[in-house]
Amino acid sequence: MKETTFPRVAALTLEQMVQRSHKKELRNAFLLLLLTAGIVHHWYQRFFPQYPWYGLIGFAIALLWLWLQSDLPQGVPVDNAPKDQLGEYTPEQIKQLVAEVCRSYKEHEIPNIYIIDTMEGQAAVVNVDGLNFIKPWNAVYLSPYILYNLDPDELKSVLAHEMCHFSKHYTIWDRFFYIKIPIFAFWIMALLNYPIDWFYNWVQGETRGFWYYVWWVIALSFFSFVWKVVMFLVSIVATLIVRGDEQAIESLCDYEASKRYGVLPTVNALLKIGSRQEIINAVVAQFSPHETKPETSQTELEASLHPAKESTEGASESDQEVKIKHVDHTKKAEDEEVSLEFNRMAAMRIALTELENLLTPKFISLEEAQDIIEAAVQKGLEETTAQRYQHKKRKLLRWQAFDNIFVNQKLEAEEYTNFIDALKSNPSKPLFYLAEEIDEEVADEDVHPPLSKRILFLEYNREHGALSL
Ligand SMILES: [Zn+2]
Repeated sequence: MKETTFPRVAALTLEQMVQRSHKKELRNAFLLLLLTAGIVHHWYQRFFPQYPWYGLIGFAIALLWLWLQSDLPQGVPVDNAPKDQLGEYTPEQIKQLVAEVCRSYKEHEIPNIYIIDTMEGQAAVVNVDGLNFIKPWNAVYLSPYILYNLDPDELKSVLAHEMCHFSKHYTIWDRFFYIKIPIFAFWIMALLNYPIDWFYNWVQGETRGFWYYVWWVIALSFFSFVWKVVMFLVSIVATLIVRGDEQAIESLCDYEASKRYGVLPTVNALLKIGSRQEIINAVVAQFSPHETKPETSQTELEASLHPAKESTEGASESDQEVKIKHVDHTKKAEDEEVSLEFNRMAAMRIALTELENLLTPKFISLEEAQDIIEAAVQKGLEETTAQRYQHKKRKLLRWQAFDNIFVNQKLEAEEYTNFIDALKSNPSKPLFYLAEEIDEEVADEDVHPPLSKRILFLEYNREHGALSL
């Protein structure tokens, strides 16, 4: 949201920005469908008459692969969820709260409610147009931490944020994700048909058959060149799909929640969710040399392993030996780096599983969780050869310090005022030990604005009379 003065911006301004993005998205969706229709037509003309089945099988493989990649939350219907995942609530109470929030949006489609078994403070929503009768596609997802620690007003506020996505601000490609997947699959399949065609012409007279096709698809997938082309096509589709106003939408949904249930419940819900996430982050950061970007992506890893290739042109004969030695050394360093990275990720996973075992769904602050964090980290270190990274101790702005008039793990009006004053006068102090709070670059890339900015946006709109506590 670089073009606005976020978080000091009126909700109306964000609303207008989102409307513009929506129009752009509609136009691009039309363009993408047109492009895909062109590809389908081309494929049909060029490849279908010769070998229709291999193309269609390729399409099915690509579709399945993409489908498995699309990570819809996995949940249990609230009626079947274990009682100890629902906190103080009964399934009926949760359904009533969801229905009440839906009514406030004049939404007649009531989502199914699922409980996701995770230690995180999570709430999510899925709304699929056209195929909404398929049960998990018309749903709101809640984690036990949310149900254990949010009072009814805070829970309604979280639900209102989610229903805002459901009813008002939901992107076309999320609403029609089941169309997005076949489009991608078709692009990939049409692309793979070319090398297969070359191969066919090359092995004239040889055994041709389905297994040759499969063999080729597998062999091709090992060529980084093929992946580069696929990624290039994916990036074209991505530019047509990405809206770029995700952070504005998130803040607008906070705004809608605050409009219905007040700024205080919304802020308190955000604070409690942040407190859980920073415990998880504290474990992750221990296994990472880069404190705020712990999960090295595959491409970043490759980039770090293959620094710009040195030019070998003009090397004299006598340099040859030196060069070979150098290559050997690089190879060894690469292997070491790969195993280091492998160990690091394994240790992180083991530690997070242990954290999940040790952490109860009840609220606990980062400071109180130190022993648990340490135990989880130790487990990761014991079971792998990964090393531990020490990061400098961060000075954080602790919201709990303001929960001091009526101590109940949430801020009342007066406490909130003191907290907001501190937040405004300490812009460099992170509110949570979270990457997006510490690192501006991470914050820009995230779908959600940092929690401190989400809170300051609500406060700005409250000060200007658009919201009340
Ligand atoms: Zn959201």
